[in-house]
Amino acid sequence: MSSLVKNYNRRKISFARGNGSYLYTKNGKKYLDFVQGIAVNSLGHANNYLIKEMTKQARKVWHVSNAFTIPEGEKLAKKLTQKTFADAVIFQNSGAEATEVAIKIARRYFYSIGQRKKNRILCIKNSFHGRTLAAIFASGSKKMTEGFGPKIDGFDHFDFGDHNSLKKSITSRTAAIMIEPIMGEGGIKVVPEWCLKELRKICNKKKILLILDEVQSGIGRSGKFLSFEYANIKPDIVPIAKGIGGGFPIGAVLMSKKVALGMTPGSHGSTFGGNPLAMSVGNAVMDQIFKRNFLKNVQLLSKLFFYELGKIKNEFPDIIEEVRGKGLLIGLKMRVSNMRFIQKLFENNLLTIKAADNVIRILPPLNVKKKEIAIAIKIIRNACKEYK
Ligand SMILES: *Cc1c(COP(=O)(O)O)cnc(C)c1O
Repeated sequence: MSSLVKNYNRRKISFARGNGSYLYTKNGKKYLDFVQGIAVNSLGHANNYLIKEMTKQARKVWHVSNAFTIPEGEKLAKKLTQKTFADAVIFQNSGAEATEVAIKIARRYFYSIGQRKKNRILCIKNSFHGRTLAAIFASGSKKMTEGFGPKIDGFDHFDFGDHNSLKKSITSRTAAIMIEPIMGEGGIKVVPEWCLKELRKICNKKKILLILDEVQSGIGRSGKFLSFEYANIKPDIVPIAKGIGGGFPIGAVLMSKKVALGMTPGSHGSTFGGNPLAMSVGNAVMDQIFKRNFLKNVQLLSKLFFYELGKIKNEFPDIIEEVRGKGLLIGLKMRVSNMRFIQKLFENNLLTIKAADNVIRILPPLNVKKKEIAIAIKIIRNACKEYK
């Protein structure tokens, strides 16, 4: 009997080790892992460079307090600002923490400029920003908040794609709009580039902040370092997490200089956030993602994968309704039960994971091999053929 709380529906299977795109059970059974910890292991399992860099740091110093200067964190923050819109960074340990801090930064900014009533955050109904108290009420999902009242105030919601409701919901008390540029848990729903551009314009006009939650879609997952880059816009605040640690828990918030000014000494802190061990791994992940042609290759692999999945969709329109997503953040919107289909893939040694809206998420590592994509395509096509 497990002593763990049963807040997950876990599969019985466990894995003894991993290598690149593959996971192995104790008995040596091999699975093609296209979950990768839900877009976390951006460079696959047991990446040699990450192991080397992490081990090097582990022999020096793991953790020191944020009361001291941490060179590894300075270095990672510098890289993140050089490669993105951001001027400043705060480090955390998870995605939910990063989105919470994003909310804090937005509120604090208006507080610091004397607009103290401007503190409400406008979000998409049934979005996903993590599981802390504030984050579940930001998500506006009935299921996630059930039993966790009293309701945390300060969040307003509009429906995905409902532009009228979005515009109407902005009041003099709105501080920021916070959305996922690609809704991950919500079913790989991509916010079109023109929408992101329009959102930026609305925020400028209303003098409110734009928070883009790139926790799942960021760190090269979309084929760009941050997915909103396709739309050529500059947000104000961007929480990131999943992919940046390559499997080591790291969260971060990227922000403009303007909003960073509100976060004065003592306004926020974290014991573990930004510790030397985590920062070394983050630096190693950045080294790999910004190697020449790495992101270009993600886009090429994505093109190949979407092309092949599109063919399967055309062959089996009664099984697959739509192939959607960006880069290697791929969703199959199913006409049959996503759960049953995931089970079929699992029985054929391909790991995938569900999302809302009857979607199957496919999340290979960003350095997946063409050959491995071909294997997955074969398994998916066979599962369609045999699906009854
Ligand atoms: C996963 C996720 C989070 C929460 O991250 P945790 O590390 O699980 O707290 C927040 N926002 C988005 C968009 C996510 O996909």
